[in-house]
Amino acid sequence: MLTPLRLAVLVVLFCAFPAAAADRTIYLTFDDGPLTGTSNILDVLEAEQVPAAMFMVGMHAQASAANKALVQRARNMPLVTIGNHSYSHAYNHYQHFYSDTEGVVADMLRANAVLGLKPAVHARLPGRDVFRLPSMSKDDNSLGLAKEGREDPDYEFVAASGFYLYGWDHEWVHENSGKPVQSVDRLVSEIDHLFSYGQFVKPGKLILLMHDEMFQDVFNGKANLTALITALKLRRYAFGAITGYDG
Ligand SMILES: [Zn+2]
Repeated sequence: MLTPLRLAVLVVLFCAFPAAAADRTIYLTFDDGPLTGTSNILDVLEAEQVPAAMFMVGMHAQASAANKALVQRARNMPLVTIGNHSYSHAYNHYQHFYSDTEGVVADMLRANAVLGLKPAVHARLPGRDVFRLPSMSKDDNSLGLAKEGREDPDYEFVAASGFYLYGWDHEWVHENSGKPVQSVDRLVSEIDHLFSYGQFVKPGKLILLMHDEMFQDVFNGKANLTALITALKLRRYAFGAITGYDG
């Protein structure tokens, strides 16, 4: 029998459900471009009309006329936020890079100049899952106790130089070749699981880390990214622009 109490519970559940659905937001982020794969990403974002952040490397932007054109194309897309992912990508020697705070700041500022970015700039440090935002900060937990705190001056000085720094909650991992590790189905089930049980840096918000090289034709980049976005739309996830993440 539907007692008044049961009815009240049902009404509360019914009213709460839409709010819960709207509270599941995914932030697509792509690192290391412009590279082979970048144009496929831009094609899919345009077709699917979803926002994304492209954290670009200054050195890659300067590498060729084609790469410069990709930066320009991304800049002209209202749904794309171009972010700074350093000039040199630390030449992939992170420990050495982060031992020189002034050098880190200079490298980030150099990428601003190349990418045409003006403060406040949305950025991701190379090789580090670090957040420095007006409302919160988080260090890279993977560095281990021995190194804990050692790079804090780098992060603080970069942030103070006009950067919002973003890490990530989950990664679509790739092999050295750039080949994606998880299938789209596997990744989607990981995301479902995280929203059911996971702890995010910000509640209800998942920053997904991907890399441009994963979306080359040789890895079916266009089809994979389209399949991912389609599956997430079907599950009624919202897609957020990184500029609204800290709001
Ligand atoms: Zn990177």
